[in-house]
Amino acid sequence: MKIVFVSGEVAPYSKTGGLADVAGSLPKEFLKMGHEVLVITPKYREVRQSLEYVNDYSIEMCNKNISAIVKKHVQHIDEKELNTYFVDSAYYFDREGMYCHPDEAERFAFFDKVACKIIDEFNPDIIHLNDWQTGPIAVLMRDVYKNYSAKIIYTIHNMEYNGKFEAENIKYFGLDPNYYLTPQKLEFFGEFSFSKAGILYADIVTTVSHTYAQEIQTPEYGFGYEGLLKFKKDQNKLFGIINGIDYERHNPETSKLIFKNYNADTIENKKYNKTRLQEQLGLPIKDVPMIAIISRVVNHKGFDILIESMKEILDQDIQFVQLGIGDTHYLNRLYLLRERHPNKVSINDIFDSELAERIYAASDIFLMPSLFEPCGLSQLISFRYGTIPIARKTGGLNDTVIGYLGNKERGNGFTFFNSRSEDLTEVTNLALDTYKNKEEWTALAKRVMGLDFSWKKSAEEYIKLYRKI
Ligand code: ADP
Repeated sequence: MKIVFVSGEVAPYSKTGGLADVAGSLPKEFLKMGHEVLVITPKYREVRQSLEYVNDYSIEMCNKNISAIVKKHVQHIDEKELNTYFVDSAYYFDREGMYCHPDEAERFAFFDKVACKIIDEFNPDIIHLNDWQTGPIAVLMRDVYKNYSAKIIYTIHNMEYNGKFEAENIKYFGLDPNYYLTPQKLEFFGEFSFSKAGILYADIVTTVSHTYAQEIQTPEYGFGYEGLLKFKKDQNKLFGIINGIDYERHNPETSKLIFKNYNADTIENKKYNKTRLQEQLGLPIKDVPMIAIISRVVNHKGFDILIESMKEILDQDIQFVQLGIGDTHYLNRLYLLRERHPNKVSINDIFDSELAERIYAASDIFLMPSLFEPCGLSQLISFRYGTIPIARKTGGLNDTVIGYLGNKERGNGFTFFNSRSEDLTEVTNLALDTYKNKEEWTALAKRVMGLDFSWKKSAEEYIKLYRKI
């Protein structure tokens, strides 16, 4: 199959979250399976790789002509080539920061228009769009390019980020507002929505877990799109496919980032990783349970209940390690925890992939108390490192973390349902009780290391779906 994969961010070139990890991994799997793949993404300032010229276009943006230069980078995978095409425009993309600019709608309208030209020339069987930045490509391919032979799939990675802009921004697409700016088309509560374009015009909509596919059909998780998503579901056009993680990158046996490599048979080496991390972070060197969180510090990751719960948990002989950047008001409260317990708490308000890997390897328990979590990658990385997650039963966490106490055969973590700090405290105490039984804990940690959340399975599901459309 000829597959084009379009995403606003792609690891290792640019990344703000899990979307980049998916866009960096899934196309590689397709290539390994023998498909022809092209990835398209913007050329932000932070893209450091040296790129090769491919083509250039002049794009009309409301009577201004803006030139787009398309450049490529090639990755060699199993003797095959994965081409990533970058849409370059100094005017729109050579800026500090990837998102949140005042002319965001115009920038991504430009990107979408250039992407359509590339797609038209590539002539794919499948156009796979990802999140709001790419949604309008579905409309342009169908109604402007009139390309009905390619199948369009639109994947929602996080419904909270849905690209709503003032209605007049539709002008950048050259679409007639009288026809398109209506509730049946792209108007969304008086505004213009990029995500609605993707959801409405795609042949199939997917999201990154089965539970999240159900949740986004409700007002609590749907951000106003629940009706439309329910309609898609009723038409049998909404599916959930769980993400995988890069098993080569997150491999305790070979990772060059951690202090000492290990596998399930040498899991005792986790202790050495803990000692060295304690040394690095200035924590006392002692064998106490280490509880970690690595996450963007934002409301929906559950920081309110986490901070409340930690106030109690920290009375015990444990250590708490945080890594992540985000909202100052949560970070200030995290720093207060450290002030109160300087020998137990390490706050790391930075983005650092090496430190992240070291924390996964060193810690015993990983916290994910998210209010919502479309898929979540961190619990999957934790499994790989024999670190046991505590997760709220929502979205992808509900699909991947099985409560150990209710199912000792298959359980792989500790789960709770209500987003209340008391519930998180209770489940953390239960996990700490289990940890006291070293033999039981080690057996659990060894077992979770053997779970398979690699991309292969998910990629096969996508291909099956592509063939069904
Ligand atoms: P989201 O996409 O909502 O941010 P995910 O769990 O899907 O959450 O993916 C987050 C990824 O980013 C994980 O791989 C996690 O380890 C990584 N990550 C988050 N914050 C940091 C940080 N400050 N430094 C390094 N890696 C981070």
